[in-house]
Amino acid sequence: MDFSITGLPHLVALASIALLGYMLGRRRSRGSIQEQQSQREIARAQAVAQQLDRISTSVRSQLARHESNVKRFKDRIRRLSNNSESISSSELCSEAERILQPTMELLTHISSAYDALQLQTNHLRTFAEARTDPLTGLCNRRALEEALSGEFARRNRYSEYFSIAIIDIDQFKKINDTQGHLMGDRIIKSVAEELDREARESDIVARFGGEEFVIVMPQTDLAGAAISAERLRKKIAANCSHLAPVTVSMGIATVNDDDDAEGLMTRADEALYQAKNDGRN
Ligand code: GH3
Ligand code: MG
Ligand code: MG
Repeated sequence: MDFSITGLPHLVALASIALLGYMLGRRRSRGSIQEQQSQREIARAQAVAQQLDRISTSVRSQLARHESNVKRFKDRIRRLSNNSESISSSELCSEAERILQPTMELLTHISSAYDALQLQTNHLRTFAEARTDPLTGLCNRRALEEALSGEFARRNRYSEYFSIAIIDIDQFKKINDTQGHLMGDRIIKSVAEELDREARESDIVARFGGEEFVIVMPQTDLAGAAISAERLRKKIAANCSHLAPVTVSMGIATVNDDDDAEGLMTRADEALYQAKNDGRN
């Protein structure tokens, strides 16, 4: 007699997706104290990971019980057919039912765990998708706004400073016009990858719009932001020019005492404008 638990492979697949979603969520929001809503979402993701752990432990032990029950039942049948031991069919049925009861419980348990995981996986996926730029996989504008509001909350509560950089690809219209939009998109992706790879683990890298990016640098003053920006500028010129010559200009700004997100972004934007006027790159 063979038993297969059809729910299990799906459960394992779902568990992997949920964990992936959890890791993605962590990656997208690395380093920053997000506003309350994000904090709740992240706490929820952590709860999913813990729940996965509990479910996998419980399924493993119930599976072991199931296997030993099946073995006992098979042995009993074998003994009955080998020996002349006799047993009525109703006795056999009730024994089978008794032995298989925990197995049915296991199946019910797996099926409800499956439903719960599916629900939470969808939730995680929605959370990650709503904060991810589809072309580059970086944080989108919504995630950036949440990160900035988290940084402002931290500045107000703990007087912690931070800086931002706005990065704009130089003469990008020309690249689009001469090489086409698809090539333009590939260059945007390549710059995004370079920024994501080279920025600090604690920085938040976002695509702000077309060929513009913003990096939020927690606990970084203006001098630190300038060093970081200059390093990124060089890296991009060196590593993103395999499709067409690519350079970027940047504007940086550090939070001041009576700042808000709009004021900070405006100062960084003015600095970017100046960099463009001063000859780009
Ligand atoms: P500058 O050095 O002054 O920044 O010159 P620029 O040509 O880059 O000027 P600007 O920043 O004003 O233009 C950006 C252009 O980027 C406008 C638009 O054609 C293009 N663009 C915006 N979004 C996308 C996108 O998602 N994909 C592609 N391929 N092009 C985009
Ligand atoms: Mg631009
Ligand atoms: Mg540009």
